[in-house]
Amino acid sequence: MTCSLCNKEILSDSHNAHPIGNEECCSECNSSSVIPLRLFLSGIYQDKALVLNTDNSISFIKPKDTAFELNELQEQVKGYIEVYPLMIPGHIVLVNEEGLIHNMEFNYLASRVFGMKAVGPVMICPEAIFE
Ligand SMILES: [Zn+2]
Repeated sequence: MTCSLCNKEILSDSHNAHPIGNEECCSECNSSSVIPLRLFLSGIYQDKALVLNTDNSISFIKPKDTAFELNELQEQVKGYIEVYPLMIPGHIVLVNEEGLIHNMEFNYLASRVFGMKAVGPVMICPEAIFE
């Protein structure tokens, strides 16, 4: 069996990849992506934003001060920010406004988790740290 996230052979335990689809994933992807994503979506982290990258990895970003400055948000989406019309209670979803113009890669992770049709990095920012 291969991992539905990294496509490598699953050599030890397999795990349900939900909410990144409903197929199985390897222990590495489970601890690097699936578990952190579940925790973030449960709303326990109000002090950091989630970034879904086009290489299927995820990262967590904290603002330098108490809330993100515009340039910090732009740095994460790699350009001008656009609010994506996706409702995640208590959160703002940001994408690159010119992602299509700049031929950025389709974000499969955001598509699998949220059904989004977005290119480039997708940032999910708690309202508490959104300026
Ligand atoms: Zn994997």
